[in-house]
Amino acid sequence: MTHKILIVEDEIQLAFGLKDNLEIEGYQVEVANTGTDGYELLTKNTYDLILLDVMLPGMSGFEILKRIRQSGNVTPVIMVTAKSDEIDKVLGLELGADDYMTKPFSLRELFARVKAVLRRQSGSSVSVATPVNLGILLVDFGNYTASKDGEQVPMTPKEIEVLKFLWERKNQTVSRDELLTQVWGYDDNISSRTVDNFILKIRQKMESDPAHPKHIITIHGVGYKLIP
Ligand code: CA
Repeated sequence: MTHKILIVEDEIQLAFGLKDNLEIEGYQVEVANTGTDGYELLTKNTYDLILLDVMLPGMSGFEILKRIRQSGNVTPVIMVTAKSDEIDKVLGLELGADDYMTKPFSLRELFARVKAVLRRQSGSSVSVATPVNLGILLVDFGNYTASKDGEQVPMTPKEIEVLKFLWERKNQTVSRDELLTQVWGYDDNISSRTVDNFILKIRQKMESDPAHPKHIITIHGVGYKLIP
């Protein structure tokens, strides 16, 4: 199966350089050079992965990400930015980005991240086969999907990964730092608020009463504990 990638990037040379190289690797690639064009393509077509620049004419990458996630679109997103500001990383992840790259990056790094995100999406590296009941959700870690009463509940690959990480350590306390380094792979502590916001979103989907969670319990000052 050929994976379809959308690149939203206003640096024309960079955009088409990436397109050429990704096509050589066997991907099908489309390019949008403004935020508005990118968003329009995303409302019409489906992609397996989006490479999303932050600073764009028309509509920022953050705005695009926010809008598509609000509409229930869970396509994996790798944010690409010229800034190495911590605030950008945090905002991108909180809005539901799956990974993050700072320009300039090597093609090797790009291919590695694209492959990792697509592998997670297709679930081929996951050994868990049977869907698991967690709260009101039935979670299929193998296919990165969740459902409630037979109906699909939109969850991003990152949300599923956070849940999977907790589930593999069920009834144990998992610290925010552990989640950040293991699930996001960052060795620096980005923000514990990032983790808290993901947990909040997951609770809204899996808890019957998200204000009084019974399955993802807060361990004050430390992190979280999943009780199936
Ligand atoms: Ca730009």
